[in-house]
Amino acid sequence: METIAEKKPRIRLDKNYVVEENIDAVQWPQECVACGGKVDYRDTIYLKEKFKNFGEIKIDVTGIPYCQICIPKIRKGKRVNQIHFILTLVIGIPLGILFILMEKADQNINFILFGGAFLLSCFIGYGLAWLFVKLPVKTFLKKQVVEPVDAWLITEEKKDKKEGISVVISIPNKSYASKFAQLNGVLPKGG
Ligand SMILES: [Zn+2]
Repeated sequence: METIAEKKPRIRLDKNYVVEENIDAVQWPQECVACGGKVDYRDTIYLKEKFKNFGEIKIDVTGIPYCQICIPKIRKGKRVNQIHFILTLVIGIPLGILFILMEKADQNINFILFGGAFLLSCFIGYGLAWLFVKLPVKTFLKKQVVEPVDAWLITEEKKDKKEGISVVISIPNKSYASKFAQLNGVLPKGG
C-alpha cells in the first residue's frame, strides 16, 4: 500500500544550502536562528529577480525564526550589509572606469580586458568596503549586530537536465545550520 508522499524540499549543501525544489516545504527549527532562544518573530525574505530565460521570478523565503532580543540586531546586520553593498559600488564603479580608461590608452585593447577590469574593480571594491564596514562592525559591535540569514536566486541545471531556478540560503549560525540540515534532510556534498 502506498501513501501519498509528503511534499519535501530538495536541498543540497554547497557552500550554502541550495533549495532545488519545494521551497515552500522548507522547515525551520523552532528556535531563534541567531541565538537559539524562544521564537518571537518570523522573518520573510522577498526575492525578486529578472532572468533572461524565465522572466521575472518572485519567491518568498518565509518563517525564519528570531527571538525578541535578536530582532534589532538582525535589522542592524541587514543595514550593515546594505551599506557594504553600496560602498562596494561607490568604490568599484569609478575604479572600473579608471581601469578601462587606463587600458584604452593602450591600443591593443580587447573586450576580454574590459570584462577583466570590471571584475577586478568589483573585487577590490568589495574587499575595501569589507575592511571599512564589516571588519569594524565584527570587531567592535559584535554584541549589537548579528549577521542575518540571507537568500538569493540562481539558475542551474536541475535533475531533469533542464535549466531552472534554485534558492540559495545562507545561515551564518553554524549550530542552527546543522539543525536545519537535519530537519530538512539536506543532501551532503555531491549528493
Ligand atoms: Zn535570538
